[in-house]
Amino acid sequence: MRTIEILNPRLANQIAAGEVVERPASVLKELLENALDADASQIDISLEEGGVKLIMVRDNGCGVPKDELCLALSRHATSKIKTLDDLESVDTLGFRGEALASIASVSKLKLTSNISPEPSEGWQVESYGRDMSAEIAPAPHPQGTSLEMRDLFFNTPARRKFLRKEKTELNHVQEVFKRQALSRFDVALSLQHNGKVLHQLKHCQSQVEKEKRIAKILGPEFINQSVFIESEAGLLSLTGWVGLPTFSRSQSDLQYFFVNGRVIKDKVVAHAIKQAYSDVMYQGRFSAFVLYLTIDPEDVDVNVHPTKHEVRFRDGRAVHGFLFRTIHRALADVRPGKSAPTQLTSSQTFSSEGQAAIVNAPSVAAVSDVPPQQNAMQFQVPESAFSVSALAPAAPSLSDIRQTQSGLSQMAEFSAQEVKTENEQMPPLGFAVAQLHGIYILSQASEGLIVVDMHAAHERIVYERMKVAWVDRTVRSQPLLVPLSLSVSEKECELAAECADVFTRLGFRVEPAGIESLVVREVPTMLSQSNIETLIRDVLADFSKHGMSSRIELAINEILSTMACHGAVRANRQLTLPEMNALLRDMEKTERSGQCNHGRPTWTQLSLKELDSLFLRGR
Ligand code: ADP
Ligand code: MG
Repeated sequence: MRTIEILNPRLANQIAAGEVVERPASVLKELLENALDADASQIDISLEEGGVKLIMVRDNGCGVPKDELCLALSRHATSKIKTLDDLESVDTLGFRGEALASIASVSKLKLTSNISPEPSEGWQVESYGRDMSAEIAPAPHPQGTSLEMRDLFFNTPARRKFLRKEKTELNHVQEVFKRQALSRFDVALSLQHNGKVLHQLKHCQSQVEKEKRIAKILGPEFINQSVFIESEAGLLSLTGWVGLPTFSRSQSDLQYFFVNGRVIKDKVVAHAIKQAYSDVMYQGRFSAFVLYLTIDPEDVDVNVHPTKHEVRFRDGRAVHGFLFRTIHRALADVRPGKSAPTQLTSSQTFSSEGQAAIVNAPSVAAVSDVPPQQNAMQFQVPESAFSVSALAPAAPSLSDIRQTQSGLSQMAEFSAQEVKTENEQMPPLGFAVAQLHGIYILSQASEGLIVVDMHAAHERIVYERMKVAWVDRTVRSQPLLVPLSLSVSEKECELAAECADVFTRLGFRVEPAGIESLVVREVPTMLSQSNIETLIRDVLADFSKHGMSSRIELAINEILSTMACHGAVRANRQLTLPEMNALLRDMEKTERSGQCNHGRPTWTQLSLKELDSLFLRGR
């Protein structure tokens, strides 16, 4: 028989360390959290060999009193909670009282601290893989704390084997650094590795300073291609930056979500955000965001994981709904004139009322004529001049213009004239000057040149209109002059009969005409100019993919998107300038018009500055 014995404290700590201390990055995370909990405003980190050889974290926080130094390194010793009630509403990053003990048991740890402003009053305690050291020695130190960890896993060779190359460990360490730097803008941070400064971040107050820090940490592209959101509902508040759908990534590597200052990964959160992007994100791509959720500490359980990477929300549905609504709304508002994907300074504020306010984009600020409401999207509203069925036959075609005027510059003049007569102010997407290769619209805007993918843009406009019409049950139909007969499979014929209601609501009248034949009598007005045969076949294909008509309702966006693709203007169609301008105006009014139905961008901009630099002007 084996006898039962209590583990000695050192072994117990080494076992516990298995959960908290995986690699240098996890040590750094714990040390940074301690410094932040001590209210430090400046934290300096220096590392050697990816942090395996040395991690040194120095802060200017409150410090540890001399008689508590040894205790700080002991297991189950914390200053952060005293009772179970405290745990219910914990507002510090740490509270388990095991990080330092765990780290001390698998490395050589030195803790130096001073609670007074007098540098000579510092004290130091050392621990070499033991629970705590008996020796406390005076050591000069400014107010605050320094923790020096050397030779991680020096006494646990089995764990040392799992450490990776210096570069890999450094990458993990940097990731931890980034997260903490994103979590607390009010704290200055620096990071050195093998004597080289990798990061030096001042504390930030203003929005501009914060965005600069984000640009330093995550790269300038992210901040240039994101919108700032700010929303509150009851005790929940969400602020931060969400990447434009066109700034999608191949991995989920640019997703940072903080709950009460703690970076977390959570299924509810991930799902809500994914869903908010679902209508605008290119398939298989990942969104980018840096978001901060503030929630009553009592409504979230942070004690579900030793490293506290996960949380549990008391009311997950409420959190899900709030996140989804806020982000979905913000993304719907991304359209020309509100936020320009390629403008380097634009970043907009989104408030809970759904009104977007431009923060620091002077170029866009002039645009006040874009109504925040979407009333122009409905079918009952007169269709725009661009909609295929409403083309003015008298409008001069592009070729006419080419014949009567010579050259591109005069065409620009033509549209400039329009500017004066039609509108005093230059709209965000400017005025069309030409069509390129039957695919792109070139437009002159106050900022420079706008290039629009006309099919992609029109597709989104048609799609958004159809979504509204579907919900409002206001899809308008138009009878075909000559009903169209289609031969289909028997199964498709049955499907058409079964889905007759959906067809009707979509604006079609499709009737079986025999076992293997359908006759189409009415089509949605919006799509009357498209190839009806392929349209019906594609819609039927969508129907059969989703089977039952009850399920079809759930997949309706997919079907509407298919239809929109048919209804959108095709490549190589010559557009007149008024048609092109009508499309630009529609884009300015349409939600999510920055991306087509598949998440691809619909327009881009070449600023005058960029053009100038291409031609070395002004150098
Ligand atoms: P926890 O953070 O869960 O309380 P730790 O083992 O990380 O547990 O730290 C133990 C205690 O040591 C903390 O509760 C805190 O009182 C003290 N401490 C650790 N690091 C610092 C620091 N940088 N500044 C001030 N006090 C610290
Ligand atoms: Mg701690």
